[in-house]
Amino acid sequence: MIRSSNLSFHYPNGPTLSFPDVDVAQGSVVLLRGPSGCGKSTWLALVAGLMLPSSGDLIVAEQPLSALKVVAADAWRAGAIGFLPQKLHLSAALTVQQNLAMAQWAAGQSEDLTRIAEALAALGVAELSQRKPSQLSGGQAQRVALARAVLLKPRVILADEPTASLDDDAALDAVTLLLSTARREGATLVIATHDARVAAALALMGGDICQIGLQAPRNLLGQL
Ligand code: ADP
Ligand code: MG
Repeated sequence: MIRSSNLSFHYPNGPTLSFPDVDVAQGSVVLLRGPSGCGKSTWLALVAGLMLPSSGDLIVAEQPLSALKVVAADAWRAGAIGFLPQKLHLSAALTVQQNLAMAQWAAGQSEDLTRIAEALAALGVAELSQRKPSQLSGGQAQRVALARAVLLKPRVILADEPTASLDDDAALDAVTLLLSTARREGATLVIATHDARVAAALALMGGDICQIGLQAPRNLLGQL
């Protein structure tokens, strides 16, 4: 679940972004839409507890984020949030298996190769575990990054522009994969995108979708 009220964020020397109030139940699918620069990535960073809001309240997976100290936020994020960033950030020097093990170490857990194999298998890439990221196709790398995002069974999956550099078939694949993974895990799924194909793909797959539309900040519009 994600609940926010009067949420805003001010970048020093940048815009102040105000976000609409949100109240979505656990397991929901949320489409965060809006043009480039409207604040989608910022909203994801706030929900992930990576930045503190300038004002407003935010509760994610039952946790009021304003109550979290920085160190506690790191531990909370590792267990509660699965982040699929726009740039996948797989370490080039490590194998696929080691990249996933890093997520376990970062969360203070010991390496669990059985769980890593299970997460890779669920995304159909178990046989790639000993490869390096440079030996993966774009679609395979995205599956690996998604396996890493759900490795610790997060309550909330946040995907930032997951279809940005994909052709139509791969974009449909990516959305299907995100949705089926979130449903299997009972996780809330947020897809931030300005890509109209995502809404079309989600509509094809049925189910309730909550749409949050963001507008470009006023001072940004003033500059155009
Ligand atoms: P989106 O993901 O929708 O493209 P972002 O959340 O990345 O939008 O950015 C929202 C707005 O905040 C943009 O106008 C952007 O230029 C501005 N912004 C983002 N990061 C910073 C920063 N570190 N400092 C100042 N302004 C920023
Ligand atoms: Mg963005």
